[in-house]
Amino acid sequence: MVDLKLFDSLSRSVRVFEPLGNRPVGIYSCGPTVYARQHLGNMRPYVFADLLRRTLGSAGYAVRHVINITDVGHLTSDADEGADKVELAASRANTSALAITELYTSLFQTDLQRLSVLEPAVWAKASSHIPEQISMIERLEARGITYRTTDGVYFDTRLAPHYGELSGLRASAEHSRVNANQSGKRNPSDFALWKFSADEGPRRQLEWPSPWGVGFPGWHIECSAMASKYLGDQFEIHTGGIDHIAVHHSNEIAQAEHALGVRPWVKYWMHGAWLTMEGAKIAKSAGLAPNLDDLNAIGVSPAAFRYYFMTAHYRSPLDLSLEALRAAQTGFERMSHFVEQHVEDPPAEVSATARAEWRQQFYAALYDDLDAPRALAVLWCVLADASLATGARARLLAELGSVLGLEWRTNRTVHAGPEAMQLLAARERARADRDFAKADALRAELSNRGFAIEDGPEGPVLRRAR
Ligand SMILES: [Zn+2]
Repeated sequence: MVDLKLFDSLSRSVRVFEPLGNRPVGIYSCGPTVYARQHLGNMRPYVFADLLRRTLGSAGYAVRHVINITDVGHLTSDADEGADKVELAASRANTSALAITELYTSLFQTDLQRLSVLEPAVWAKASSHIPEQISMIERLEARGITYRTTDGVYFDTRLAPHYGELSGLRASAEHSRVNANQSGKRNPSDFALWKFSADEGPRRQLEWPSPWGVGFPGWHIECSAMASKYLGDQFEIHTGGIDHIAVHHSNEIAQAEHALGVRPWVKYWMHGAWLTMEGAKIAKSAGLAPNLDDLNAIGVSPAAFRYYFMTAHYRSPLDLSLEALRAAQTGFERMSHFVEQHVEDPPAEVSATARAEWRQQFYAALYDDLDAPRALAVLWCVLADASLATGARARLLAELGSVLGLEWRTNRTVHAGPEAMQLLAARERARADRDFAKADALRAELSNRGFAIEDGPEGPVLRRAR
């Protein structure tokens, strides 16, 4: 069996994936700040996390995925200054903070569904976890690693010996000489755990009492508190965009390791590269920030957009161009059409070796740090493999495509749903490895979900059990 290897940003190396124990693999993905519609660039980290989740599924792991929703505490400057993004959007739209966050949370969730991102086990909302965040700050305070200013409670990064190991930037005296700001921070890398509501000016809509005074949590504490609540004090994989490395994730690690007394807190840190437009990061502030509806308007479907994401490795920047989008639409349509046309073709006595060979190549690519472009290239080889009957090719494309989250327009196998398809794929892998106990367990799991596996002459097909 090919080992699943993943690039870990903390050790800066590709490492063989090993779960922590006998329970679902935990994945925590940093979610959006829901003060505006998420643009196309914002979608990339979640499609990457979903590919990771499906890949783990194909390897037979159960996965518990948590995505958070930041609905309070993210200020216009990541350095804990400026206005709360949500409050600002609410006052500009002359509506409530709650109305803003509910609207943009639901639009975000719908966009992910359109991109075939599997529903996480937990959507964790920051404002629904204030007691958890306060309790984590209290633990940090008890360990003597916090201090209070007129503006809030801060984490003292110079007392955290491992601070900054993720980014390679350490808190240093060198830094603090250039430090001068209104918040009274001791070091530039220190960050807010709790911010006090201002005495003057309009009253905040989002504020809570705390042992330190009325206010709201700093942006970073929510992720440490909610991840440990839902995934335990240690878990396997934390994902995010590369822009999270220097500040947000460095701060999450510092908080969690000191509050929970564990190290490492997370076994693998994975970061996706940006989707860019003319070489620059897509940003709402820069004006043009297209979303999925804009793509529809130019004839690019969400499914084809997902296909487009698969044409680049998650750690490579991907530049958005009309030409590339159109090519993705054409490629997706062609493959989808082939599957649709041939998936019901009758089974034929064909070479099981050829199919096993394609599967092997597909997983060799995917398990090499999620090399989706190489896996996609294998699908094109399958489509062109004239030594296989058309039906066998179509069914193989349906099976392997589902691991990439490519949902072809219509066929009975895909109608089983992505989760069932992953279980089926995992069973095929187990059988290829002659791990029959695992294969049987996966068959039983499918049966629990109402599916029967029919092993035909050219491999397994899922049917709804009657
Ligand atoms: Zn986070």
